Amino acid sequence: MNAAEFDFGAPAPPGDLPVRWIHGSPSPRHRSDPAIQVHAYDPATYILRESKDVSFEAPFLYLFFGNERAILFDTGATADPDRFPLRRTVDALVETWLTAHPRAGYELVVAHTHSHTDHTAGDAQFRDRPACRIVGRSPEEVRRFFGLSDPVDDPRSFDLGGRTLDVLAIPGHHPASIAVYDRWTTLLLTGDTVCPGRLYVFDMPAYLASLQRLARFVETHPVRWLLGGHVEMRRTAGLDYPFRAKYQPEERPLEMPPERIPSLLSAARSVADRPGVYPFEDCILYHGVRSGTILRMLGRGWLWNLRYRLGIIP
Ligand SMILES: [Zn+2]
Repeated sequence: MNAAEFDFGAPAPPGDLPVRWIHGSPSPRHRSDPAIQVHAYDPATYILRESKDVSFEAPFLYLFFGNERAILFDTGATADPDRFPLRRTVDALVETWLTAHPRAGYELVVAHTHSHTDHTAGDAQFRDRPACRIVGRSPEEVRRFFGLSDPVDDPRSFDLGGRTLDVLAIPGHHPASIAVYDRWTTLLLTGDTVCPGRLYVFDMPAYLASLQRLARFVETHPVRWLLGGHVEMRRTAGLDYPFRAKYQPEERPLEMPPERIPSLLSAARSVADRPGVYPFEDCILYHGVRSGTILRMLGRGWLWNLRYRLGIIP
């Protein structure tokens, strides 16, 4: 290791969580959130949140630095760099990193926890960036890039330079879904497959197999936190903010304990043959999404946002 390199051989610092995230503005007329919140979890790990003022999806993005490259997981729900300056934000973080740890040809990889548009819309901002690779969005491209085989049982490692990630295929919410484990911090990114929000399961057998794969993984690896793509649940058990809600003052924390995986697996198994909507304390399982369910969700969100615009904060 030369002096300019970050010492990933030393134990990772504890990491700064929980944190108060931006969660929308109390009034649509007085927007107070920045477009992106940048949270340094530790000096080599950043968690970013897109503002609810920019997109109701308000996804979380993750930036990991290594000595040879950095990797960004997800690019948010908004393409427009004026409304959502992701490239500028990430470039500034890379520049700060390179000031402390100078290195020629330092690369940025842009990848995704899955390929839904609320996690990929900002890709275009990186297309002309030098020293940047953007991972494709199809399951085949994702698996080829990370070397995941078919069948997809084994994790594959990805080297950032002194810092190694393990990538697991976890289809079910989306065919290209992956989980990402950082051996240094022992954080496990779970995307929209496991998060404190509405878990839309489009392929239940695949989802169960993925939770089983994750359960085996957390059993055999130390995991500090599970970190997902959204927070949609309130602190009140089993209650979510409506779909499209733009203000979430009483959100649950983003981070979930690793023990949540086996308990979610048994809960999902118990309803696997009965499509429907199943609320749990910290998430809601949508097993099959029917048109009636979507209409109810849209109606509830529309009413909620009407009250928000009128200043009657629910
Ligand atoms: Zn999402």
